[in-house]
Amino acid sequence: MEQKIPVALLGATGTVGQKFIVLLQNHPWFEITELVASPRSAGKTYKEACAWKQDIPIPAYLAERIVIASGEELKSRILFSGMDASVAGPLEEDYAEKGHVVVSNAKNHRMDPDVPIIIPEVNPEHFEVTRHQKYKGAIVTNSNCVVMPMAMVLAPLHKAFGLEWVQLTSMQAVSGAGYPGVSSYDIIGNVIPFIGGEEPKVEVESQKILGTIEGDTVKSADFIVSAQCNRVPVIDGHTENLSIKFKKKPTPGEVRKVLQEWKAMPQEKKLPSAPASPVIVFDEDDRPQPARDIWREGGMAACVGRIRECPIGDIKMVVMGHNTVRGAAGAAILNAEAYVSLGYLD
Ligand code: NAP
Repeated sequence: MEQKIPVALLGATGTVGQKFIVLLQNHPWFEITELVASPRSAGKTYKEACAWKQDIPIPAYLAERIVIASGEELKSRILFSGMDASVAGPLEEDYAEKGHVVVSNAKNHRMDPDVPIIIPEVNPEHFEVTRHQKYKGAIVTNSNCVVMPMAMVLAPLHKAFGLEWVQLTSMQAVSGAGYPGVSSYDIIGNVIPFIGGEEPKVEVESQKILGTIEGDTVKSADFIVSAQCNRVPVIDGHTENLSIKFKKKPTPGEVRKVLQEWKAMPQEKKLPSAPASPVIVFDEDDRPQPARDIWREGGMAACVGRIRECPIGDIKMVVMGHNTVRGAAGAAILNAEAYVSLGYLD
């Protein structure tokens, strides 16, 4: 790309906003030109406004940048949104109406019939529904961070064997709750068996991602998901235990082969943020583990292990993914790369 595409970060000061900054450093196509947050942060320099929690310092070119209040006019064509869900709905719509392409992490528009939840390896054809949106620009979303690694694993298996139902139990990292999130008093040495609003999202989003386009909207696939979501004392990386019932029962070896061999559009087009292998299969009995494996493929892979027979469904397994990378900022960046690469920004 000769000239980089200017992008803005909505919710730039938050956990996901910070991860965008880390992942967009030296990005070959996109350049952060505007940092947007709440009126509380507006007018401050980024370093004053932000409780920076990343492993690298704030990049020098952004540390002194003045934060813009949400709602103000922006110049960037692509806006990456990591805004709190309590405000993201109308703000994202306003920006899309003004002609911006909003690539969002927030839950607010995911289930709108004309808004796709995109995983470029799985359903890039769903970008097509953005052509029928009421906006001058567009809204594109990525899934919830629990759904992301699960849907990446389910997609090739659904194609090969057909899904009937999936039972999921999650062990979710504290970074999934944003900053400051859950208090240390509540989470250290503890498991909290409830995450407000999480299970309803996990029970519907993967069916939409694996759905088909009908007319101007996406029709969800018809398998069932039952979810139980737990917060555990892990910093980054959601671990998920799945039991799966298929239409055509596979062996564990057949499941392993399908997952291991799966490659798709982002790999073929070599998109800048695409993992070389979207799913990594582990053979060790005690992997994947968030502390050891979240950075495989730069945090962009779904990690899978313990593929074995299930006495209730057909197959059970462990799935793990980086919730703020492949489950949030990295997912949105890959979505924007796919959107540009498929000619939708033209
Ligand atoms: P967070 O750390 O609490 O950050 C929230 C961000 O929203 C902050 O930048 C905050 O800015 C901004 N904000 C609040 N009110 C605003 C307003 N009126 N206008 C503009 N910006 C406003 O939360 P997070 O974990 O980064 O999550 C951000 C979004 O991504 C949420 O919708 C969340 O559900 C979603 N998500 C998160 C994860 C994850 O793993 N954390 C994964 C997938 C999706 P101020 O600093 O100025 O208040």
